[in-house]
Amino acid sequence: MSYSAAFRCIAGCEGSYPLGQVIYRCPRCGDLLEVVHDLRALATRTALDWRQVFADRWRATSGDFASGVWGKHEWVAPHVAAENIVSLGEGASPLWHAKRYARDLGVGEVHIKQCGTTHTGSFKDLGMTVLVSTVAQMIADGAPVRAVACASTGDTSAALAAYAAAAGIRAAVILPRGKISTAQLVQPLANGALVLAVDTDFDGCMRIVQDLAANEGVYLANSMNSLRLEGQKTVAIEIAQQLDWQVPDWVIIPGGNLGNVSALGAGFELMLALGLIDRRPRICVAQAAHANPLYRAYAAGWAELEAVPAKTTLASAIQIGNPVSFKKAVRALRAFDGVVEEASEAELADAAARADVFGAFACPHTGVALAALEKLVSRGLVTREHRAVVVSTASALKFTDFKVGYHEGTLAAVPAPRHRNQPVELPHDYGAVRDALLRGLDAR
Ligand SMILES: *Cc1c(COP(=O)(O)O)cnc(C)c1O
Ligand SMILES: [Zn+2]
Repeated sequence: MSYSAAFRCIAGCEGSYPLGQVIYRCPRCGDLLEVVHDLRALATRTALDWRQVFADRWRATSGDFASGVWGKHEWVAPHVAAENIVSLGEGASPLWHAKRYARDLGVGEVHIKQCGTTHTGSFKDLGMTVLVSTVAQMIADGAPVRAVACASTGDTSAALAAYAAAAGIRAAVILPRGKISTAQLVQPLANGALVLAVDTDFDGCMRIVQDLAANEGVYLANSMNSLRLEGQKTVAIEIAQQLDWQVPDWVIIPGGNLGNVSALGAGFELMLALGLIDRRPRICVAQAAHANPLYRAYAAGWAELEAVPAKTTLASAIQIGNPVSFKKAVRALRAFDGVVEEASEAELADAAARADVFGAFACPHTGVALAALEKLVSRGLVTREHRAVVVSTASALKFTDFKVGYHEGTLAAVPAPRHRNQPVELPHDYGAVRDALLRGLDAR
């Protein structure tokens, strides 16, 4: 069977474009493109067959199927030949059933999809393996690609640099100077990317890279390029697979440029179309109150996007005021009976720390999603009858300044951290250590 997919305009214009073509917007109306799969070809296997195929490939010990993304090859990127796959073993991440945390919240079940458990420490790896593999395929087919480039709040550039380095493709990353974490900055540097730190914000970097892609023969690696979303949509498929194909009641996901929620929706839609699941979950997008254009549009009854200047937030990867995938996100949220929540700096930091007490180690963006979950609970939308999945988007090990600052009490935006925990510093003396131990254990 030959599987295939192509770019189409999301506004429904005529025409489809091969996935190896350098094209980011509809040439007729300028709107975003999306990847559309040949469903008839995919439907030549039954839903039960696909479930079995995915079960057989799950975390294969070696080869392409050791990757969660490439274990779904036909559904994701049928245009990439096996020899051009550039994989770092991404995906197939744990879905952690956080039982004690759910009890504390008063929710039936909470599962945390640990997308940060991956090579560069964020879910961006899932999309970047597809994008860079496509570029490798294009180069193998003789296309002239000078380099791959992206604007980034940190995690996209880390992923692009790693996959490009593994493939031997030149990479340039454009970052807002001084606005990303040290760990995020050092990743593309270590991987040998050309790092351009520009005195602007993410939205300013995004405008520059779009012009470079249009004029200078560099291939655009931002999520406006919907190839990325094809890899990211495997998060939805993995969640369903890990819940034995039972659809959760809620999926809560932090949103910035809004590609990832669009991908989540696309994954569930494809499973519905092919009969692997029989209903949709409700989706909640969580935004930082300091960068909340989607929240504002939602609160105004799905108004048009009004770009806002994004204010500094601890959730730096979602400090975006003019989200590229706004329209796709609204479409997904409408289809999934969706809601949008926002979280203040103190709310996101305390929510992350509260989950940590039960075994998580939540990055600030995951904290935004956890704060949204708390709000859905207090509004009675998520209850003891419900199973909720929170998408954790990055490893907190990339955001140690946030974690350390919280517990040291030095974050200006979080003057009174509620779950602060400090080391007890003691002299080299058995009695002192023993007393501190007994006192400390009693207080827990
Ligand atoms: C990119 C990113 C997001 C936001 O994803 P969008 O697709 O831009 O909405 C959230 N969290 C982390 C850690 C990210 O790197
Ligand atoms: Zn169009």
